[in-house]
Amino acid sequence: MSDCLFCKIVKGDIPSTNVYKDEQVIAFRDINPAAPTHILIVPNKHIDSVNMLIPDDEPLIGRLFGIAKMLAAQEGIAEGGYRLIVNTGAEAGQTVFHLHMHLLGGRQMKALG
Ligand code: AMP
Ligand code: ZN
Repeated sequence: MSDCLFCKIVKGDIPSTNVYKDEQVIAFRDINPAAPTHILIVPNKHIDSVNMLIPDDEPLIGRLFGIAKMLAAQEGIAEGGYRLIVNTGAEAGQTVFHLHMHLLGGRQMKALG
């Protein structure tokens, strides 16, 4: 996916403030944070959205949660609480079509709606 923003971040072609990286997943700070902690947890593999998941991706998706838990503790927001969001499709507000999980915390969240 040569013109995908997050593929470019995975490759290191676009700078990012990384907080985690391994052979399957990268996590970096959102460029336009919506909360004191706003991290994007992104599979290195290009997947457009949840709609494109295949059964083989399920361990990878589980891994996103494990990394979210670890980063929430690292950011000091595990006890206070945090929100994990995966926007899927334009109507949900997805703007980057490379699957990612938002980790948001450090302030009181409003009800969804
Ligand atoms: P979504 O709306 O769920 O697709 O989320 C995309 C997120 O990517 C938004 O919160 C943007 O602020 C964020 N974003 C866009 N470009 C960059 C970038 N170069 N580095 C970090 N975050 C970015
Ligand atoms: Zn991509």
